[in-house]
Amino acid sequence: MGIGPENGEEANIAWTKIEEKKMDLDDLINAFKNSSSVLESGFNRQVRSLKVSMHDKDENPLSLAALEGMPLHLTSKTIQRYQSSPVIKMLESCELLIIPLKAKDRVNGIIVADNFITNDPITKDDIRMLTMLANQAGLAIENSQLFELTAERAHSDYLTNLWNHGYFQYLLQRELEIAKATKSKLSLITIDIDNFKVYNDTLGHQSGDKILKDLALLLRNQSRKMDHVCRYGGEEFTIILPQADQKEAYLIAERLRMDIQKYPFLNENIFPNHKLTVSLGIATFPENGQFPADLIISSDKFLYKAKSQGKNTTCCS
Ligand code: GH3
Ligand code: MG
Ligand code: MG
Repeated sequence: MGIGPENGEEANIAWTKIEEKKMDLDDLINAFKNSSSVLESGFNRQVRSLKVSMHDKDENPLSLAALEGMPLHLTSKTIQRYQSSPVIKMLESCELLIIPLKAKDRVNGIIVADNFITNDPITKDDIRMLTMLANQAGLAIENSQLFELTAERAHSDYLTNLWNHGYFQYLLQRELEIAKATKSKLSLITIDIDNFKVYNDTLGHQSGDKILKDLALLLRNQSRKMDHVCRYGGEEFTIILPQADQKEAYLIAERLRMDIQKYPFLNENIFPNHKLTVSLGIATFPENGQFPADLIISSDKFLYKAKSQGKNTTCCS
């Protein structure tokens, strides 16, 4: 991301405003959050289009700072040797600071600052302040990445890596609220493996677990990007399909059913008809109910109808 005035006039307006309103760091961050112009600036677009090789640290001061984890101060003299670097070419600066953002010893970002508008020499104090900021920022980025990872793990099922039952309930509630607010449809597919007990009783639970993993991967790969694929429990799965009416959900469910029937699962000759198959039930908002529980009960009811009709079938009414 590139932030900063593009010319002296823009810089003057910004700096006068900061002085007049006595803006502190919080004010600056809030002003940034409430303004889209920063992200739409030509400078930001230029920075975002920049690609930097991490291999040529002799040619490229950014990769040198990232790989060595060292702050670099390029003066009007030392900057000369990096003239061919795309960053230096783009910035057209005579003096630059390149400071790595670090968490412990891992570099997770870089701040580049120049004196393009003022041309005031960069001082030891500037370097000290920016390094302090970079150290804080590096830790904050690491913390937020760890937080996201932990939250994702807590919502995932350990065996299949799909969303777990608790998160399924949350997602269904949330997607239903969105569907109500946007007056759009939403469908829920419930899936249950046919005669899975036979497979487990013959080959053991560990072989059964391998099947659950493979099936979970297939469900995820074959569903739409916007859908939420969850492990409801045991050998039952649910898929939340935002914006899908009953007809569309039926087409998706049937495509999944056929993909599963075609897929060569390990030792599937154990199953009564020598193929792993599933039965599916579909419920759609608003026809089958207004609340998460209504849709779960409906799709379960249609799933059992599919079982009673001989399995390897999709039912939605
Ligand atoms: P149906 O066609 O009626 O669904 O028959 P089914 O044998 O699949 O019966 P049901 O859906 O009731 O499935 C229960 C069986 O699924 C019991 C157990 O053998 C197996 N199962 C449930 N959870 C797990 C699991 O986490 N791991 C393994 N390996 N097997 C499981
Ligand atoms: Mg079951
Ligand atoms: Mg079953």
